[in-house]
Amino acid sequence: MTGLTLALSKGRIFEETLPLLRAAGIEVLEDPETSRKLILPTNRDGVRIVMVRASDVPTYVQYGGADLGVAGRDVLHEQALAQGGSHGLYQPLDLNIARCRMSVATRADFDYAAAVKQGSRLRVATKYTEIARQHFADKGVHVDLIKLYGSMELAPLTGLADAIVDLVSTGGTLRANKLVEVEQIMDISSRLVVNQAALKLKRDTLRPLIDAFASAVSA
Ligand code: ATP
Ligand code: MG
Repeated sequence: MTGLTLALSKGRIFEETLPLLRAAGIEVLEDPETSRKLILPTNRDGVRIVMVRASDVPTYVQYGGADLGVAGRDVLHEQALAQGGSHGLYQPLDLNIARCRMSVATRADFDYAAAVKQGSRLRVATKYTEIARQHFADKGVHVDLIKLYGSMELAPLTGLADAIVDLVSTGGTLRANKLVEVEQIMDISSRLVVNQAALKLKRDTLRPLIDAFASAVSA
């Protein structure tokens, strides 16, 4: 059998991909939360998992560092926009895991509707600058984008920004910081991404795996 490398990120995506792997007959033999290994072996000869940062998954798969991977629609969309629309990744399957939404949030005492209506310039802090740029351009709202790498909730609380664009699932983090979700931009879930060349060269191993994932997702 041809060797196969699957790129995953720690946390939600890893945890929620495990049952799908199991359904495909693949058991991961080490826990990335306790192991320091970046390459995890599986019970299947030649199938290995590489643990990478969530935003690095598309890059690994695009350039062949991994044959396939699991990445959020947030990351995929942001990077596709940054690369001018597409990144040449085959995306055969929405795995329906790590579901959340991309939203605009502000302080509870900020009148977002009025600010948008008045045509004032909004200061928006986000990790997703491309998605935010497109969203506000579509609405005809002028924005100054501030790129952050973590804890976006802090930005409106400190006066760094009027609004943030971030992922929301339960809304608990927003509530804990007295922020409100004022607009939903898109629904997010994780997708399977496959390297185009691998799809051709390793078709005999990849196809059954994709099919097994597909049945597990619809089960
Ligand atoms: P890093 O810590 O490396 O900067 P990250 O913080 O973006 O990466 P996570 O927060 O673990 O990584 O998110 C990884 C992926 O999980 C995201 O790209 C998204 O698709 C999904 N995700 C993030 N937050 C949520 C959430 N609240 N609910 C469901 N899925 C989420
Ligand atoms: Mg994280």
